[in-house]
Amino acid sequence: MLEFVHVDKTYKNKVCALNDFNFKIEQGEFVFLIGPSGAGKSTITKLILKEINPDRGKIYLYGEDITRLKARKVPKLRQSIGMVFQDFKLLENKTVYQNIKYVMQILGKSSSEIKSTIDTVLDLVNLKDKKTAYPHELSGGEMQRVCIARSMVNKPKLLIADEPTGNLDPVTSMDIANALVRINKRGTTVLMITHEKDIVNKLQKRVIQLDKGIIVRDEEGGMYEKN
Ligand code: ADP
Repeated sequence: MLEFVHVDKTYKNKVCALNDFNFKIEQGEFVFLIGPSGAGKSTITKLILKEINPDRGKIYLYGEDITRLKARKVPKLRQSIGMVFQDFKLLENKTVYQNIKYVMQILGKSSSEIKSTIDTVLDLVNLKDKKTAYPHELSGGEMQRVCIARSMVNKPKLLIADEPTGNLDPVTSMDIANALVRINKRGTTVLMITHEKDIVNKLQKRVIQLDKGIIVRDEEGGMYEKN
């Protein structure tokens, strides 16, 4: 479903972010991407979203080499990927329901689809009872779960969560990770970038560890630190 083949990326300042980089993620996997700051994790996300292009190599997403994708097809590519970030960007003057409705309207969805999808995605993150709440009435964890729900409106086959628990306490962080696991169990492939040792160790998923633009470990059921 996602494959990098001999990908090189060097930024203009001659910093080599990825060096002959290869990896493959199958449909339905849950993968942790870990590694110190500067290892190349965000570069991977930016390449998948085609915010930047590699200097060399191929990147296959859903069977298509996206390095060859025409510029006019990039918005559709981005809509086909769920994205969750560290900072929850919700509109303060809109309720949970209205926040999700807003993005769906921009995507041109019909009112009936909007209605049924919002219920489904809020159910995924156990927030159906918070539909009418405003962001300031929610905890950080609840706000992040709204963002996760919102990222699922297009039923993406791939969800990338880039340090989604960065601003949250450990218990709440585990709730977020569990919401991602639930989404993964329903068939969505999840790539989670994280520094949270406890989450990685508890969930026992595939761990890909990067350092200086190369994979130093790729282990099924791995721990945060190699034993
Ligand atoms: P991570 O997400 O693991 O912290 P990044 O992918 O952001 O790592 O960065 C990998 C390397 O590329 C780092 O050395 C970083 O300083 C460098 N880098 C990232 N983005 C840019 C950029 N836009 N211009 C120049 N160098 C960059």
